[in-house]
Amino acid sequence: MGELELIERIRSEWGAAGRAAAGATGRASHGLAPSVALGIGDDCAILRPPRGHEILVTTDFTLEGRHFRRDWHPAESVGHRALARGLSDLAAMGARPLAVFLSLALPGEMLSTRAGRLWVDRFFTGLRALADLHRVPLAGGDTAESPCDLVLADIVLIGSAPAGRALRRSTARPGDALYVTGALGGAAAELAAIEHRATKRQMGAPSIPRSWRNGWETSSKSASDQLTAHPQLFPQPRLAVGQELLRRRLATAAIDLSDGLSTDLAHLCRESGVGAQISSAALPIHPLAMQARDAQANHAADAPNRALELALNGGEDYELLFSAPPTTQIPRTLAGVRITRIGSLVRGSSISLLDSAGRRSPLQPGGWEHFTGKH
Ligand SMILES: [Mg+2]
Repeated sequence: MGELELIERIRSEWGAAGRAAAGATGRASHGLAPSVALGIGDDCAILRPPRGHEILVTTDFTLEGRHFRRDWHPAESVGHRALARGLSDLAAMGARPLAVFLSLALPGEMLSTRAGRLWVDRFFTGLRALADLHRVPLAGGDTAESPCDLVLADIVLIGSAPAGRALRRSTARPGDALYVTGALGGAAAELAAIEHRATKRQMGAPSIPRSWRNGWETSSKSASDQLTAHPQLFPQPRLAVGQELLRRRLATAAIDLSDGLSTDLAHLCRESGVGAQISSAALPIHPLAMQARDAQANHAADAPNRALELALNGGEDYELLFSAPPTTQIPRTLAGVRITRIGSLVRGSSISLLDSAGRRSPLQPGGWEHFTGKH
């Protein structure tokens, strides 16, 4: 398979979906239209944003060795995560996705060997499943042979939001309440478990059970449960929650949790010129983080701190952190996702954590880069 053949395959698969959706409903409810007037195949794509909307753009690198490891992450997960990161940025601003563009550099062996081609197929299966779930068409991109033995992907996501209404990081006010969606620390806990298994058994990336793939296609409840049980491999960007926050004018500011609560909260506070106080007892900690044991120490007594550390600093959960006026009633769930109040914004610039005994300590940004171990 050469580069051109790969492009042709992508074009026929993604293009066909758009046409099929258009044919089935009389108008394109999914796939290429109505947001994409012209997709893959010409020099540029032509997008058609809804009337009265502004365009939002976000880009994300997915680099082997930095954002994933081929021996830890199944190929479906790599495709899913590449798209999830950009979708989560759109979610943080309350935007709707219009189109995605993918530039992909693949090692030569991936185009020339059967195993390599299978990896590429599985990468696109994962990407495609998440794209279909959120009805975002692949409207263009580029492919090249990687100059090294690494997979490099660059995703550009285009979204739209009603003019002047997109949620921002910079508009929170002192006195606002702070909320998070879902649960924290699961992605880092699952990654630690994958690492632990891999170093113990020296095995390669696990295959995805066939039932999951069927689940993607049918998007059944049990299949989506299976996916949410894997917050590292298949994080779920909170697009519907972000859109609800915007539509109902609930939030004063928002950010997505890509680097970890401690780091992303610091971003929101800096941009808004506020401080924050959060309570460790209030944090919704993911069950996988609760189960986590430090692989080195393996003392049960370390477990509560380990869970809190993962929730504060783990990163890659792709939940939303948002602020709302203290008088605004925030529902317990939005778009089916649990919402938890974790603290408040205060005057000044200090960010502090209140522990369960009522002691207050400064909260340092502690997100870390997973594959370099750098803080
Ligand atoms: Mg972000």
